[in-house]
Amino acid sequence: MPYDVAVVGAGSFGAWTALRLHEAGCTVLLVDAYGPANSRASSGGESRIIRMGYGGREVYTRWSIESMGHWRTLADETDSGLLVNCGALWIAASDEPHALETMSVFTEAGVAYEALDARQLRRRYPHFRFDDEEWAVYEPDAGGLLARRAVQTLVRRLIEQGVRYEQRHVQSPAEVESRKVVFACGPWLPRLFPVELGKRILPSRQEVLFFGVPPGSSVYGPSGTPCWIDIANTYYGLPDLENRGFKVALDKRGPLMDPDTAERTVGAEAVQRVRGYLARRVPELANAPLVEARVCQYENTATSDYILDRHPAFDNVWIAGGGSGHGFKHGPSVGSYMKELVLDGRVPDERFRIDTKPEFTEMTSQSSL
Ligand SMILES: Cc1cc2nc3c(=O)[nH]c(=O)nc-3n(C[C@H](O)[C@H](O)[C@H](O)COP(=O)(O)OP(=O)(O)OC[C@H]3O[C@@H](n4cnc5c(N)ncnc54)[C@H](O)[C@@H]3O)c2cc1C
Repeated sequence: MPYDVAVVGAGSFGAWTALRLHEAGCTVLLVDAYGPANSRASSGGESRIIRMGYGGREVYTRWSIESMGHWRTLADETDSGLLVNCGALWIAASDEPHALETMSVFTEAGVAYEALDARQLRRRYPHFRFDDEEWAVYEPDAGGLLARRAVQTLVRRLIEQGVRYEQRHVQSPAEVESRKVVFACGPWLPRLFPVELGKRILPSRQEVLFFGVPPGSSVYGPSGTPCWIDIANTYYGLPDLENRGFKVALDKRGPLMDPDTAERTVGAEAVQRVRGYLARRVPELANAPLVEARVCQYENTATSDYILDRHPAFDNVWIAGGGSGHGFKHGPSVGSYMKELVLDGRVPDERFRIDTKPEFTEMTSQSSL
């Protein structure tokens, strides 16, 4: 018997979409070629930031607020420790428009925040260095999601609730025994749909480093260090979660990358570059040992907006992707949106349509903010 809907791809977007369709009463088949939040998937990392700040892009602030509630419920109900409430700090140079716009959206949307000057920052985070003209927006309600664990917890729950999960490689909509199909295949989408998405989603190589913290120190853990985003320098990081080390990464899009075949070894150049940055921002860790490293990929659209739309050539096929280095946190809201597209006939907003995404063939070095 065919399923009502199949969801291909069990990352953050696909797993939450499967949940929403199941909650709406559909029979749902969820498939993934390599397994939920596998090491190649964009959702397969240790941790992801959930922040409300999005400059002037208010829709994403609202989705962060909504999604935070759903992640928290999942964390509480499964007792899985998948959400760490450590806040997020936006480090800004003077007059940084992104930080100023973030504050004005926060005021309108009722998001709690503090604006901190360099003196206050030094007092609160003595292990960081701040220039005199720097300041920051602090979001107390932001935090870190234990990404792989969160998706795997959600998929286990889906299976318990009656969603059918299969490890399977799907190469076309015709292969799936369901009335409707959602493809939530992250960086693989351009390969699956080369005509429509080949130049609209480009996967880029991103290197993530974890540095060992000093013995006996807890200041780098979530009680002393928030998630942080250094806007001008395009670096970001998370505290030492579960004692895996202080995470730092560059948020600029790297070179094109093949999610199936790429070797995931971090280059010595990336390590040197990050050490140079740490020497200025967190000097105590500049020569700390690298204790773990990962290579992941962003699945970028030209505008960094997601693609949540019906496939132009098939009435019963939808696409959810283009997370562009910031999508993980929004899985719950993406899932609700996809349910409305697939079941309620909602027409996608312009921002999320395939045909409003410019085609591009060369990676620009923009950040995911
Ligand atoms: C280094 C890094 C840092 C990031 N930081 C953040 C952050 O701090 N906060 C945040 O919110 N977001 C962040 N992101 C972005 C976020 O991780 C992604 O946007 C999000 O995880 C994308 O989820 P997805 O479900 O679309 O794709 P994926 O997680 O890649 O899932 C797609 C799934 O589809 C499966 N699949 C693919 N093709 C097929 C096929 N043909 N048949 C069957 N299965 C298939 C794959 O195996 C995979 O499991 C970051 C990303 C990276 C790489």
